[in-house]
Amino acid sequence: MHRLGMSRAFDAVIVGSGINSLACGALLARGGWGVCILEREDVLGGAIRTEELTEPGFVHDTFSAWHPLWVGGPAHAELGEELAARGLEYLNTELPTATAFPDGSSAFLLRTTDANAAELGEEWRGVVEGFLPNADLAFGALGTELWSRAGLRLAFRALRRFGPRGLVEYVGGLLVSSRDWLTETFPSEGPRGLVAPWVLHTGLGPDAASSGFMTQVIAVAIQEGGLPIPRGGGARLVDALVQLIRGHGGVVEAGRDVERVVVRDGLAEGVRTADGEEVPASRAVIANVTPTQLYGRLLPGGPVRYRYGRGDMQIHFALSEPARWEGDERLNRTAIVHLTPGLDGVSRAVNEADRGLLPEEATIVVGQPLTIDPSRAPEGRGLLWIQLQELPRGHEWTEDERERYADRITERIARHIPNLESAILKRVALSPADLERANVNLVGGDPYSGALSLDQNFLWRPRPGHATEVKGLWHIGASTHPGPGLGGGSGTMVAKRLLR
Ligand SMILES: Cc1cc2nc3c(=O)[nH]c(=O)nc-3n(C[C@H](O)[C@H](O)[C@H](O)COP(=O)(O)OP(=O)(O)OC[C@H]3O[C@@H](n4cnc5c(N)ncnc54)[C@H](O)[C@@H]3O)c2cc1C
Repeated sequence: MHRLGMSRAFDAVIVGSGINSLACGALLARGGWGVCILEREDVLGGAIRTEELTEPGFVHDTFSAWHPLWVGGPAHAELGEELAARGLEYLNTELPTATAFPDGSSAFLLRTTDANAAELGEEWRGVVEGFLPNADLAFGALGTELWSRAGLRLAFRALRRFGPRGLVEYVGGLLVSSRDWLTETFPSEGPRGLVAPWVLHTGLGPDAASSGFMTQVIAVAIQEGGLPIPRGGGARLVDALVQLIRGHGGVVEAGRDVERVVVRDGLAEGVRTADGEEVPASRAVIANVTPTQLYGRLLPGGPVRYRYGRGDMQIHFALSEPARWEGDERLNRTAIVHLTPGLDGVSRAVNEADRGLLPEEATIVVGQPLTIDPSRAPEGRGLLWIQLQELPRGHEWTEDERERYADRITERIARHIPNLESAILKRVALSPADLERANVNLVGGDPYSGALSLDQNFLWRPRPGHATEVKGLWHIGASTHPGPGLGGGSGTMVAKRLLR
């Protein structure tokens, strides 16, 4: 094992190599800081991993796959050009998402307000026109450290715009559930069933407080920004960030488990790795870990009160030919197709998972990266990225149960893609337990590193920044505001504060 040696001191040591660490490390290194990132797994990138998981030539994004949050986020705004110069290229689509219903009908979300009004009804125009004038506040709340001067400025901006009564009404409107918002907005089931599954990608269910707001944010963001992915797989983003950090003299190492933050006189002075090395940090230790690990392992202390969300399963298919969908021909060209009976279907599956059951009719996310980036499979072949976000917390998974559940899901997909079963070259399923084994931050297979119910989101999620009484110790990652996803928000906020 390569060891850094005590002789080398860094300005900042970052624990873990998730997107927030890499964004933070890149900004700091570019700003002249000596940066060291230590990752316990053998592969860098955390929930971004690209590998030939099934067959040679089939390039799978094993965990996350879709990068609208990165491309629309603050780190990309700062670093995009430098990453492009290191070979990172984004591809996008005009057909981002659809829902295919059990009766063979489908509904599509397209890339302009006019096209979506034609597809979904004139109500859509009202959605966009109602959302866009205050989009700065919505995206501000998701991109600002709320417990800070910037957070206060955002609140004052809202107050000036709405006045006190208007502000209370506006904030009240943000608390509405997806179910109430969808049923009040759209008279028919098609648009409701198109948008409802997207609430799962925000970690919520359609009956949760604030899920209506999150659904609007995500639906409008997809119309405006599409679903960009990097040519060649998500790991190209990791590669480019690592190159940038190393290019500025930073160190990034895999296979280095950090077991302790070294604290002397209330000041974080570095970290100690499980192989016994102390790596000093003269200005900051930045931990991209869950609160459970931060307070239960890296620092002395006890367990903290922090709740994890539902589990996630991923299924990857290598196919001998492209998936051929029944019904609307556009399904063959759509990046993400959800399979669900509709709003009530999503609601029921979430509720079953919350009650500890495997849902009878799960919402199936069928991702088709080849519709955007054909380079990810040999010519004439097919590849699918499947995600199931409604699995019970704390369920004990055996390999046999995982495969039987994956069989059930495969049968359901095959009702919409009749050539699926005959085309399967290989299927690889990853249970929530497999996810946690690959990344300790995915506790119980929760892809979002912590439940996102209102009591643990926004102002109530751990703050990115000083998390503890320990000076010089900073907390970032999906467990901190603005939460999960590939935006790199918490890492960027902390880097900017340190550079100030
Ligand atoms: C299956 C799946 C699919 C997803 N799909 C999408 C998607 O398509 N689009 C999207 O925007 N978001 C998606 N998400 C969410 C998004 O990927 C994550 O929220 C995000 O990547 C988390 O980044 P992070 O910076 O918090 O760190 P993580 O990616 O969680 O990485 C943390 C890293 O820290 C390491 N680590 C932890 N403790 C230590 C230690 N003590 N010492 C050393 N290293 C340590 C871990 O090994 C890990 O590599 C998905 C998540 C999952 C799991």
